[in-house]
Amino acid sequence: MGLTQDEILTRLRENDPEKLAELYRRADAVRAGHVGEEVHLRGLIEFSNICQRSCTYCGLRRENRMLPRYQMSAEEIIAGAGEARARGYGTVVLQSGEDLNMSATWLGDVVRWIKERYGLAVTLSVGERPVEDYRLWRECGADRYLLKSETSDAELLGDLHPPRRSGLPIRPELLGILRDLGYEIGGGVMVGLPGQSVASLARDLELFAELDLDMIGIGPYIPHPGTPLGEAISAAGGGAAGEAPRSDDQAPNSVSMTLKMLSLARLACPEANIPATTALATAQDGGQLLGLKCGANVIMPNLTPRMYRERYEIYPSPWRAEGADGHSAILAAISEAGRAVGQGPGGRRRG
Ligand code: SAM
Repeated sequence: MGLTQDEILTRLRENDPEKLAELYRRADAVRAGHVGEEVHLRGLIEFSNICQRSCTYCGLRRENRMLPRYQMSAEEIIAGAGEARARGYGTVVLQSGEDLNMSATWLGDVVRWIKERYGLAVTLSVGERPVEDYRLWRECGADRYLLKSETSDAELLGDLHPPRRSGLPIRPELLGILRDLGYEIGGGVMVGLPGQSVASLARDLELFAELDLDMIGIGPYIPHPGTPLGEAISAAGGGAAGEAPRSDDQAPNSVSMTLKMLSLARLACPEANIPATTALATAQDGGQLLGLKCGANVIMPNLTPRMYRERYEIYPSPWRAEGADGHSAILAAISEAGRAVGQGPGGRRRG
């Protein structure tokens, strides 16, 4: 990106509105130069909230017994893909908790049917699985895989996202394997996790470039009261975005820090597809429009059926409770940003 780690740190710590505006303008110009004016829409289907992991930040964690669990049928998922097609989206994203009991062949069949029936690009985001599963899904036609590392701070990650078993490849290594299998690969981080330093955010950006990510998801950490991390924040008197406990170098989970990360990610990986995330929209009304102006070129409208949506509660969001998919608000944001809705699968364009 032409920025040293020191220069990145300076920008992450910058609070002068004019200098920040300059950073956002630069990211926007790089976005325009490398991925153009189109905003690609990816229809998101959160097909199961069953999860065997114990991530301390996430409402889907297995210990959250308050959450009624669901698993959509293949027919329901395919109907969702049909809706994506009808709306003119080029991609469907199938996301779930991490459930090793979910049969790899079942998901592979779903992918194959979607490809045969609708010809959509398919992105999978179902967590850490055996390499044979990734291979099978690729053979069934899956195009992309999202697997966020959440933070490059290994010690923090060990606390927040306890490994399933020691010795299994960590997420950046899995991304390398997925790339070798022919997937477009997506990574990313949450911003403002308690204990996450600004210096570690700078290293996250370095890692994005090293992995040459095709997709980068960056959103603010939003406390969930039914999780150990959310409870600790409430006990410390915090609770809302922007109020995570601080150490000297603690990164805030603010919209501003998220936008700085997004802009710098665009500079680090000019060709990547970068969404203006739902977490950004949850943290601030109009957050997705801000994201589009700071380097983002993707939005993921939610196509999860209303009866399930509220139960995919990774963090509390008024959007879920209302069951709104935000489709018209998304189109309005794209038009307000002076951009066009992307056509076709919208994969990475290498320059
Ligand atoms: N199970 C898959 C995995 O682990 O990659 C995909 C589902 S996981 C719930 C999707 C993403 O939700 C995670 O990568 C994480 O970044 C995000 N997430 C979970 N809890 C969150 C929170 N409290 N605030 C913001 N993002 C959160």
